[in-house]
Amino acid sequence: MDASVRPSHTGVQKSPVDQTQPLLAVRNLNRTFGSGANAVAAVKDVSFELYPGEIVALVGESGSGKSTLARLLLRLLAPTSGEIQLLGKNVTHGPKTAYWREVQAVFQDPFASFNQFYSVRRVMLSALGVLQKQPTRAERDSRLRTALSQVGLSESLLEKRPYELSGGQRQRVMMARALMLAPQLLIADEPTSMLDASLRVSILNQLKDVRDATGTTLLLITHDLGQAYYVSDRLLVMYRGELVDTGPTEQVVAQSQHPYTRALIADVPTLH
Ligand code: ADP
Ligand code: MG
Repeated sequence: MDASVRPSHTGVQKSPVDQTQPLLAVRNLNRTFGSGANAVAAVKDVSFELYPGEIVALVGESGSGKSTLARLLLRLLAPTSGEIQLLGKNVTHGPKTAYWREVQAVFQDPFASFNQFYSVRRVMLSALGVLQKQPTRAERDSRLRTALSQVGLSESLLEKRPYELSGGQRQRVMMARALMLAPQLLIADEPTSMLDASLRVSILNQLKDVRDATGTTLLLITHDLGQAYYVSDRLLVMYRGELVDTGPTEQVVAQSQHPYTRALIADVPTLH
């Protein structure tokens, strides 16, 4: 990855939506695993906002709590304390299906949670289970077509099985599955880490294209500051469960005085 050629970042400025109300706000979120002497505080007093249409990268080394935070934000895991607000509404404990219509995920291992013998069509249509009213066949087909085109895939893949696809195609199918619901927020947890280095930039570019085309807010989670720098408008830096640094990406990389952030920057040859 050549992070020195950072593409121009225009999505936030172009987006017609209200930039003053956060899409998602997280207040003093905590998550502890275990208890007593064995307790692990994986997420500690984390607060931040995500605004409509931005690409925010959450960076930190392995074990810093990124995936735990992702699972909290996705409501796959309950917080020990703290609050999550979607468009100003407290959704920490509300109905999950309604939440999942707005907040979708792409994970590190595409298809990990799906039967290897399901077709791409079946995997993608399974995303619609959270809708209140099941769409007509015509609407389903239209959603399939739109989602596939948003990730640059051909409809001819619909009858294929996961094992017939390349790694890059699999991850694109997972992105398309998430986009079936036209979510307001897409959370991608290490979406490129199972891919060859040569494919990583194309997946990052695809995520950026999705944001530019749909206005979907993107939270990209990565241990690689080079990737975060390449694609994000704003950075959140996590260290041992805490957010230790935040700000516009260029500004953080150029000016941060935080020792952990400086150490991450020092690890990326093209950034200094
Ligand atoms: P990251 O995604 O940044 O690598 P994780 O959120 O996966 O970090 O892990 C943060 C910490 O929480 C680690 O110490 C990890 O061992 C611990 N942890 C994560 N999930 C669990 C769990 N289900 N039970 C116990 N400890 C966990
Ligand atoms: Mg992780």
